[in-house]
Amino acid sequence: MKLNLKQKKYIDNKLFCLSKSKFRSSFKLSKKLIDYIDKNGFDKIEEHAYDFIRKNISSAYPLNDGKQTPMKNHPVFIAQHACGCCCRGCLEKWHNIPKGRELKENEITYLVALIIEWIKREYNRKKEI
Ligand SMILES: [Zn+2]
Repeated sequence: MKLNLKQKKYIDNKLFCLSKSKFRSSFKLSKKLIDYIDKNGFDKIEEHAYDFIRKNISSAYPLNDGKQTPMKNHPVFIAQHACGCCCRGCLEKWHNIPKGRELKENEITYLVALIIEWIKREYNRKKEI
């Protein structure tokens, strides 16, 4: 996905705000999940991010809302928690996307871009250690 400068800045700023939250910044990628990224590549991870966002949080009233995103087993799940994209309550709180309506296509694109950027930064951070 290609982002313009304004979108990049917006995501950069959002990640900065998220990093100030003790809870949000407590999410990290395990060695197992870093290996998973190495095996699958970022394009595949991005496909999964679209899938999870569409299936689990994009409808007006998602199933099990608030509990639909696991805390482990996929880098996208971890990133969803880290980025406030795990349920409609968090989308409202962190991204001003109101509950009770379907997500728009540009919102889905934005959430996926945010998630992928978080994963890339976390991946690079882990690779430097
Ligand atoms: Zn949530």
